[in-house]
Amino acid sequence: MPTSPSDLAVVDLAVVGAGPAGLAGAVAAADLGLGVTVLDAGERPGGQFYRHPAPGLRAARPEALHHDWEAFATRASRLEAHCRAGRVTHLAAHHVWTVVRDAATGEWLLHAVASGPGGEEAPAMVRARAVLLATGAYERQLPFPGWTLPGVVGAGGAQAMLKSGLVLPGRRVVVAGSGPLLLAVAASLAAAGATVPAVVEASAYTSYARELPALVRNPGKLGEGALYGGGLLRHRVRLLTRHAVTAAHGTDRVEAVTVSRLDRDWRPVAGSERRMPCDALAVGHGLVPQLELATGLGCATRRAPDGTLALDLDPAQRTSVPGIWAAGETGGIGGAQLALTEGELAASAIAYELHGTPRPRRAAALVRRRARLRRFADAMAAAHLPGDGWTGWLDDATLVCRCEEVPAGRIREAVADLGAHDARSVKLLTRAGMGWCQGRMCGPAVACLAGGGPAEDRRPLSCPVELGRLAQLPPSVS
Ligand SMILES: Cc1cc2nc3c(=O)[nH]c(=O)nc-3n(C[C@H](O)[C@H](O)[C@H](O)COP(=O)(O)OP(=O)(O)OC[C@H]3O[C@@H](n4cnc5c(N)ncnc54)[C@H](O)[C@@H]3O)c2cc1C
Repeated sequence: MPTSPSDLAVVDLAVVGAGPAGLAGAVAAADLGLGVTVLDAGERPGGQFYRHPAPGLRAARPEALHHDWEAFATRASRLEAHCRAGRVTHLAAHHVWTVVRDAATGEWLLHAVASGPGGEEAPAMVRARAVLLATGAYERQLPFPGWTLPGVVGAGGAQAMLKSGLVLPGRRVVVAGSGPLLLAVAASLAAAGATVPAVVEASAYTSYARELPALVRNPGKLGEGALYGGGLLRHRVRLLTRHAVTAAHGTDRVEAVTVSRLDRDWRPVAGSERRMPCDALAVGHGLVPQLELATGLGCATRRAPDGTLALDLDPAQRTSVPGIWAAGETGGIGGAQLALTEGELAASAIAYELHGTPRPRRAAALVRRRARLRRFADAMAAAHLPGDGWTGWLDDATLVCRCEEVPAGRIREAVADLGAHDARSVKLLTRAGMGWCQGRMCGPAVACLAGGGPAEDRRPLSCPVELGRLAQLPPSVS
């Protein structure tokens, strides 16, 4: 691959992310005649939802832990066919660390780090006329005493371990936090042989009743919920709503958790605590859109109903920066079906904009499907918005930023005594969010403790990069 930007051939479209949104976008764009390069940090396409075992594990039925595998399999084989025909280049194990505009040509340069099989790294660059950001999401973690014990894993992380490594985080796994992902995770863990004593959900599912019209218009989603519910019933998994794991206990690893009843604001109800033995805890409080590349480019964001920041997109999936489109979780957490729909819609809008390609006939149906799924997603997001009272789970010694080992007490001190009132000032005073994960883990919690809204994720690089690589950036790149 050429290493100087001026030597690069220009492709019509660069897609960042090969999850449902990026995969659907890349395939649909190639179907419409665009030349496409897909870059993904993962080794295989599929993203989080269609994560599947490495070929070396010789899984007989990789689809066993998925529903709607067909939607992935057909797109993955079309991607391969486009690659063979030279219409698509798929750069797997390529982490894009920045996207910049070439001031001389107006084209986009994507800078990536390519990881080799032995862990060696090499720089890579792609030049494109348009970019589709489909970078997905990561888990929202709200800390509690004991959350750093071995055996405490993310709920989505447990699902990822199972789907890609065929391993369970433990034999007796409590699943806790908030959001519909918990049901999927518990159903998968139980089906794979774990004992799941309970799904501990902080919200009340009764709040879904307020959104009845959105639910009724999405029978497919209700069917998905029923599928997971049936799995939980079969495996005798209890669902405790308006409850939270407020502490994890153990010495070398988690041995039990404290489960407390919550009030409407997620404040623990005194005297309601009970101990639940387990050897693993899978916990997550929803997902947070992964926006570093987009916000680095200056794309506008909006506050989503689950309290996270998502990209502000127009009906054609355009961001506020001309030439940059987005699809999937980047525009608000909504699930794999919405991501597939948005990816395809973005592709048709990009083909129209670059080549005047008429919109495919199915575009109108896709627009309706997107509206229906987005309404459902917003209803779910509102139902699982964390209540402010969760901070009542923390004692002053609880680590909030685990990278920099900053406890809750130090953050409270920065707010109460030193005048910090947003995540950024807390960070400057305490180093919370300055460590290896750059606040991806503690950011939502720190923002809440500081009393402000979620801080916009403004960082010029989306992963660690050697200084030499930065020095090689040509001056024509703004
Ligand atoms: C850990 C985890 C597990 C989940 N498990 C489930 C589940 O079991 N069931 C369910 O219904 N939903 C699950 N979800 C939700 C799931 O993310 C979405 O429903 C769906 O996958 C969204 O599709 P997407 O294409 O928007 O994003 P994703 O599927 O997340 O795909 C994003 C892709 O972008 C790539 N990427 C991100 N940044 C870069 C970069 N800078 N450079 C290169 N590549 C990049 C990632 O490697 C990834 O492949 C999970 C989410 C998480 C975070």
